[in-house]
Amino acid sequence: MFTQKSLRLMASDTLCIYSNALDTGGCLASVGTGWGITWTTGSEVTNRLRGFTHSANEIEIDYMVHEEEVSQTIQVTYTPLHYGGSKAWFLCECGRRVGVLYFTGSRFLCRHCGEIRYASKYENELDRVSAKMLKMVRKFREGDPDSRFPDDKPKRMRRKTYRRLMHSYCELDARWRELLREKYGSEYW
Ligand SMILES: [Zn+2]
Repeated sequence: MFTQKSLRLMASDTLCIYSNALDTGGCLASVGTGWGITWTTGSEVTNRLRGFTHSANEIEIDYMVHEEEVSQTIQVTYTPLHYGGSKAWFLCECGRRVGVLYFTGSRFLCRHCGEIRYASKYENELDRVSAKMLKMVRKFREGDPDSRFPDDKPKRMRRKTYRRLMHSYCELDARWRELLREKYGSEYW
């Protein structure tokens, strides 16, 4: 028989799932049962996922990423507690035993995996943007090393070219700042 349980995680901007919450919510014990997690901010539902318990050691979660449904299987393991009973843990794809899996933009992974992906994603673009900006600075200074970049138009550069380059430079600069904010901000953790 198919029964539906539901966990409601309150006021959380962070898309993550807790093995403890699934355990105490009875989701892990109910083999063959579907359940759901709803993220809310105030009364507004911000995200949701559907889950299914295949066995005490394996759950499946289904969620939407860019309008495509993703299905992820997660292994579950248990450690005994001193005073009896056991504590449930997720096994991340990297093999780590963790209590929390974070949404990393494509899958739910442990903090460590998330940080690696998150960092490299922005690192690559940061590198590209910085390289482009540096190239532009060199172009500005070509033949006019004394010009104060980016305030002065280099002597031999046409006004129209200068305006076009300045516009591109400002766009790159804005993106660069945004990437830094995203990288060092605390969007997911
Ligand atoms: Zn991991």
